[in-house]
Amino acid sequence: MNCRETQELIHGFVDSELGLVWNLEMERHIHECSSCSGAHERLRVMHTVLSDNSLYFQLPAGLQDRLRTRLRKVSSVEGSVRTISPTWRGIGMAAALVLCIAGTWQVAITTQRSSTTETIGQEVVTSHVRSLMATHLTDVPSSDQHTVKPWFNGKLDFSPVVADFADHGFVLDGGRLDYLGKRAVAALVYRRRQHVINLFIWPTSQPDASIWTFDRQGYHVFNWNKYHVTYWAVSDLNPEELRQFAEMLRNLE
Ligand SMILES: [Zn+2]
Repeated sequence: MNCRETQELIHGFVDSELGLVWNLEMERHIHECSSCSGAHERLRVMHTVLSDNSLYFQLPAGLQDRLRTRLRKVSSVEGSVRTISPTWRGIGMAAALVLCIAGTWQVAITTQRSSTTETIGQEVVTSHVRSLMATHLTDVPSSDQHTVKPWFNGKLDFSPVVADFADHGFVLDGGRLDYLGKRAVAALVYRRRQHVINLFIWPTSQPDASIWTFDRQGYHVFNWNKYHVTYWAVSDLNPEELRQFAEMLRNLE
């Protein structure tokens, strides 16, 4: 492992996101290389500092009571001015409370979903980088979809869609098994000029979802769900062409 490879994986290493083999490789290099060891130490310190509880602001004692008293005064003044019947006021307050709880619940669900997706997105980028470093990008090097698709038989608990887009300038390079989101997944490799696209595919219980995209470490990531299968395309190819690739796949029946 060299310094460039170490620098690309160092954030995943500090966040304990790499697998056992890569952890050992990283530990070995950091042990032997003073420059990477320094970089690792700085990141590790920053990580520790950011997780320090003292950074989280504590409300001054009594603030909650003072706010409550102030609100009670304001509402009693309003109450004397307005002539809303007590029943309607009660219903209004109950409705507001229900809305508030529903809102909090929705925020909690959305936040949880997006943080899971973000974690997988990071894994997808790490896997892409790792595949480019490895000596073999594909386990089954073939541009023939009828060779690549059956190769996955018996290796996965599903059969991935293997499409041929050579006519559109996206050449199938082969496939391999990968491990993402705590499960074995299909990784298909396509090439567009000198750019490699990794397309990760696995089944999901999530409903259909349109394409959403984000950038991480200079790579573009496109994700969507269709027919209870999730797709993650990642590459350093420009986002316009990667989107074209994603949309062609998504429009397959
Ligand atoms: Zn180094």
